[in-house]
Amino acid sequence: MKIAVLPGDGIGTEIVAEAVKVLHVLGLSFEMETALVGGAAYEAHGHPLPDATLKLAQSADAILFGAVGDWKYDKLERALRPEQAILGLRKNLGLFANFRPAICYEQLVDASSLKPELIAGLDILIIRELTGDIYFGQPRGRRVATDGHFPGAEEAFDTMRYSRPEIERIAHVAFQAARKRGKHVTSVDKANVLETFQLWKDVLTEIGKEYPDVTLDHMYVDNAAMQLVKKPKFFDVVVTGNMFGDILSDEAAMLTGSIGMLPSASLNSKNQGLYEPSHGSAPDIAGKGVANPLATILSAAMMLRFSLNQAEAADRIEVAVKKVLAQGLRTPDIYSEGTTKVGTREMGEAVVKALG
Ligand code: NAD
Repeated sequence: MKIAVLPGDGIGTEIVAEAVKVLHVLGLSFEMETALVGGAAYEAHGHPLPDATLKLAQSADAILFGAVGDWKYDKLERALRPEQAILGLRKNLGLFANFRPAICYEQLVDASSLKPELIAGLDILIIRELTGDIYFGQPRGRRVATDGHFPGAEEAFDTMRYSRPEIERIAHVAFQAARKRGKHVTSVDKANVLETFQLWKDVLTEIGKEYPDVTLDHMYVDNAAMQLVKKPKFFDVVVTGNMFGDILSDEAAMLTGSIGMLPSASLNSKNQGLYEPSHGSAPDIAGKGVANPLATILSAAMMLRFSLNQAEAADRIEVAVKKVLAQGLRTPDIYSEGTTKVGTREMGEAVVKALG
């Protein structure tokens, strides 16, 4: 088993270091190789995803990724910005299925801005299509308008598009995931306005017939945004396109209190995957030793389960995380009165200790 370790920028290096410590004490044999990505790679090699990093990622069974980005790169041309490294990895490895669980841990019920009774026991899995939609659709660009409300004015445009096979494969992923959970899929679309999402809805309905044991319902994205805060426990598996998934998964993340708790996985059809926390590089707290490493540690657990076939080791990590929360240890983002405030390293070490 080979793991490519790409810590990236900002808090990425701090939180990945803790996840690597956790992986080392599991007693499993795997090879880990580290490489630069994002702003760090741009500084050293002039590109956020250098060839050597891409080759390492392609040759690995899984990638453990920290985060990339910093405001100081905002003025760089788009192709050189740190975030392009993630898009490049998704595209080159064909990582089309993004799994974002939003789980509310019993001990953190009070960290959410929602009432405890709404989120206690919450366990949603958002499955976002990652390689299509308006983020990648061509044509796109800027030009002078020849029609519309202001002919002759500068305009910009993007193209929303999905092909039937792209929708079919993410639909299968969602139904298969639901089979292992609550057997309920909510497909989120905007079929009332967009052709792309009418096709999406038609295909989901067709594929749904192959999974008679799973309940399928359809919800418009505006309603889904509302229901996520009104009645979040209605949802089990949510499947949606790239842009809606981008927005809804962050909303779902905040239901649980802190984005510092939420792992994610992006998989291709060979189960090769990129595992990263749902948050970014948090430049505001980078280098201060206060970032929450648990999302990255839980991402490492997802990596063991999905790409490395080590479900038992994944369970051990998840149990250890629950143990440290039960001990009252909290990084500042999840701290509340009566608990013990710890830094990134202490939290990582507590998980290592809880693994026994
Ligand atoms: P962010 O997720 O980095 O930070 C948002 C807020 O959450 C900040 O206040 C931050 O301090 C806090 N936060 C994030 N992770 C935390 C953790 N583990 N522990 C405690 N607090 C945490 O989002 P942003 O501020 O919008 O973006 C910062 C940079 O990250 C930008 O350059 C952005 O492009 C990039 N970004 C990268 C990724 C990625 O690498 N996948 C994702 C999102 C944003």
